[in-house]
Amino acid sequence: MIDEHPKAKRCRHEPDGCAGRAVVVGAGPAGARAAFRLAGDGWSVSLYDHRYPWEKPCGGGLNERALSLLRQTLPRLPRAPVNRRLRLDSSGGTCLEMEIDTPFAVMPRLELQRRMVEQAREAGVSLIRRRFRSARRTGANGPWLIDDHTGEQAEADLLVGADGALSAVRQAVAGPDAWRDVRPAVGMVHFFSPPTRPAREMRLVFTDHPSGYIWEFPGEGFATVGISLPFDPREGTLARTLLHRYLVQRGWTGNGSGNSVPRLRGAIAPSAAAEHWQRGPIQGNGWALLGDAAGLVDPLTGEGIYYALRSADLLAEALAGGEPGRYTRDVRRELGTELSLAAHYVKRFFHAGFPDEMLNLAGSHNGVRRVLGDLLCGRQSYIGLKQTLFRSCIPAGLRYLLLKLTGRW
Ligand SMILES: Cc1cc2nc3c(=O)[nH]c(=O)nc-3n(C[C@H](O)[C@H](O)[C@H](O)COP(=O)(O)OP(=O)(O)OC[C@H]3O[C@@H](n4cnc5c(N)ncnc54)[C@H](O)[C@@H]3O)c2cc1C
Repeated sequence: MIDEHPKAKRCRHEPDGCAGRAVVVGAGPAGARAAFRLAGDGWSVSLYDHRYPWEKPCGGGLNERALSLLRQTLPRLPRAPVNRRLRLDSSGGTCLEMEIDTPFAVMPRLELQRRMVEQAREAGVSLIRRRFRSARRTGANGPWLIDDHTGEQAEADLLVGADGALSAVRQAVAGPDAWRDVRPAVGMVHFFSPPTRPAREMRLVFTDHPSGYIWEFPGEGFATVGISLPFDPREGTLARTLLHRYLVQRGWTGNGSGNSVPRLRGAIAPSAAAEHWQRGPIQGNGWALLGDAAGLVDPLTGEGIYYALRSADLLAEALAGGEPGRYTRDVRRELGTELSLAAHYVKRFFHAGFPDEMLNLAGSHNGVRRVLGDLLCGRQSYIGLKQTLFRSCIPAGLRYLLLKLTGRW
């Protein structure tokens, strides 16, 4: 059961041993990246994941900033075509087509995970295919005692929760109440091989009642089609029904075409409320949460891979700099500010009728169209969004007058 990698005992920087023993739970993008970075910084790292290797239900969309983080360490990522067409449809019947001039790749999650974990193992990480169950400290500053599903125990100085939306580590270290203001969305995905060469066209179709969207992401030889809706336990089958209907409409049931029942798989994307970023605990004495476990998903676009990777980097940097407490501050400042703005905008964005108005406006205005495309592809941050819209949409002369008049935007 334990995959003891031959290099697992190696520790780099400490002459008389390791920087410490770290247990990282979850071998998704956050955990695999953190394990790799910590091993490089001299930690002895055990990476737990009972599901490894698996295809997480996910769109697999990698935008420019996620690709650029991955490229720092992973060679030979899939081609990321630029100048794809993005088609947006509102439920009111408005359709908008635009060219996206930023790189956007679609990668099966199984492949991404395999490559990241292999890289971590080469850096000395031990992969342990077990399910984390619980953890407790032996004394205020003593090591963690970690139980897995086999009943075996391990010790660690640092416990990193990168175990996704329903994080068991979060439950163990922060308790259930600290996370009340995380409102999850539910996502349902269908993977299929397109019958012909993959289309260059990506699609987003907005839904009303409930407000959400369906996406189509064509990759190299495969595509993902999925739906994202606010999570509502009373409507467990709604996402499935809506997605199934869409697939039938597009003729994409089964693997390629035909009318067989498609295989749909679901997952939860956790998005924290705007206020959460001021108080939600993501770190404590000897523990830290990353990626989905820390609620780091954009509630508007569903983007999470970039945040998972970046949170892992911020933790590694804080630890390497000898200031572990900096992690919370850096996440709040760099990622939390943006995500809390997204949480703020999301209520208006998915308000009935808004996508219709937005697509109409973008259809008649190049500036709005460009900003919308950049926002959906992760190039335009929510920080400064108002200013960018102002600059792109209002002619310079009028802008000057408005600024003179009001003194601000
Ligand atoms: C339907 C859907 C579509 C999405 N599409 C996109 C997209 O196109 N682009 C994008 O950027 N983001 C997308 N996201 C978000 C993205 O999937 C996540 O934000 C990202 O995977 C977070 O990475 P992570 O490493 O934090 O967690 P995860 O990728 O969820 O990895 C967590 C890992 O922890 C393991 N684990 C869980 N519990 C335990 C345990 N007790 N013990 C041991 N291991 C455990 C799991 O097996 C898993 O491998 C989507 C999300 C959903 C739900």
